[in-house]
Amino acid sequence: MKKGKSMKKIYYGGPIITMNEKMPLVEAVGIDGEIIISVGSVKEVKNKVHSDYQLIDLNSHTMMPGFCDCHLHPIMYMIYLLSPDFSTIGSFIQFKEYIKEFSKNKPKDQLIIGYNLNEERFEDPVLPTRWDLDDACPDKPLFVVRYDSHIGIANSKALELAGIDKSTIPPEGGEIRKNNDGDLTGVISEKALELLFSHMSLPSHEEMKKTLFRVSQIFAKKGLTSVHGILDAEPYFKNNKQDLSELAVFMRFKNLFSQNCYFFIEIDDSQKLQRFISSPLNEKDKYAKFKIGGLKLFLDGTLGAKTACMHEPFTDAPEMCGFCVVEEEEIYEQMNVAHNQGFQVVIHSIGDKGCRIAMDLFIRLLKEYPKSDARHRIEHASLLTNDVITDMEKYGVIASCQPPFLNSEFEWLEKRLGRERIKYTYPFKSIIDKGAILVSGSDCPIEDPSPIQGLHALVNRNNFVPEQCISVEQALKTYTVNAAFGSFQENMKGSIEEGKLADLVILDKNPLDIPQDQIKDLLIMETIIRGKTVYKRGEDHKFI
Ligand SMILES: [Zn+2]
Repeated sequence: MKKGKSMKKIYYGGPIITMNEKMPLVEAVGIDGEIIISVGSVKEVKNKVHSDYQLIDLNSHTMMPGFCDCHLHPIMYMIYLLSPDFSTIGSFIQFKEYIKEFSKNKPKDQLIIGYNLNEERFEDPVLPTRWDLDDACPDKPLFVVRYDSHIGIANSKALELAGIDKSTIPPEGGEIRKNNDGDLTGVISEKALELLFSHMSLPSHEEMKKTLFRVSQIFAKKGLTSVHGILDAEPYFKNNKQDLSELAVFMRFKNLFSQNCYFFIEIDDSQKLQRFISSPLNEKDKYAKFKIGGLKLFLDGTLGAKTACMHEPFTDAPEMCGFCVVEEEEIYEQMNVAHNQGFQVVIHSIGDKGCRIAMDLFIRLLKEYPKSDARHRIEHASLLTNDVITDMEKYGVIASCQPPFLNSEFEWLEKRLGRERIKYTYPFKSIIDKGAILVSGSDCPIEDPSPIQGLHALVNRNNFVPEQCISVEQALKTYTVNAAFGSFQENMKGSIEEGKLADLVILDKNPLDIPQDQIKDLLIMETIIRGKTVYKRGEDHKFI
């Protein structure tokens, strides 16, 4: 812990929202090094901090606890930033032109992977096929991944590289789609994606170093002081000497990362989790910057890819109901091992049936091996029927939602789900009303990791089922106190209280004092992690 005379600071001169119910609004905050040492009136704080402090005027800006994004993929984001990006492509013609352009100078023997395709923006919103890709890029292996990362399209060269032909049997929980004539369309989903991703080459050491640093700086610019990161521990990046996992890559560059990180690990065999207890990414300190907290499992797919596991077929695809990507017994065994080794279990589940199954598995686990405060989570939890929410509250299972999904999906959700089912899609208010815990994240790089845009979705919902809007205060909780609770870290962060980390964010306006439709325009003026300013508006050049 760094301490010293010059490390003491007192912030005052603007509203300070503490997110501590006992004293929600204060005049001043005193910090010493990494820690908040005093909260209260200017006089009280000055007395407590005593001497040799720096007085910092907030100039009427609003200070609050730094934001925590509860579900994102730092290494995947790094890869996205280094890869062709389809996020601005709005038509089929543009799609082909863009492919022609970026594939021009690529080597013939390396798989090119492009991300963020959103065909919903095309005049005819259907997924392209391998023939479309072949047309634009006939001689180099190319794989284009949809923005939800659960489905992609390979051109003929990429199928060849991955050894996929008409006779290839997809791995369980995955699809290799064919047309009515039995020809491969190039469309690959869920567990079958690994057939392509296993040919991904790792960027150079320098590129990774530069880009992971940039990832952390982008997070700082968005006001994030903490993240719950998902890391795959299975080695799948092709490297010259040995294959590397996301976890190994993060470990290599961890010192470049400013945010506090709490990790959920993806691994084929949960018995191997034990080895991470002594990992450098699992610090033992009370104020640990890096912590490995749990096991991340997959139960189903996504609404966009029509692979989310549903009770009834999709409204715009009556032949499709989605599916579970694993056998229930298999996932239960993984949960069992992690739970009994003291890890949290977090399950990706999106469809209404998927969430019911996930909850039933948690109930079975908690009945068989009771634990009063396990804080297991359903990740995404997009379609939650009332019975599932009631059980989440009863068994203390946390809803880890991604409000920004609503910003990109609201226009087509009704087409996909129909009038009845949209009523319980992203049911933020029902979750809170029933007393279950709601935490928020972005699933970055799937969505923009901006908590401001997430807050906008929570309180406005782009008018999608507006009765499920929540208040600004409730929304702020999901990114602060609840987020800390979601990782067993409520004693060290999440609110502005004595003894907690000086993780703070300064906004241009008070979110509790402006019309709800202006939340999206809030500006991050400064981000402070462990007492240190890591971003200041207007001085971006210094940081990125
Ligand atoms: Zn995710």
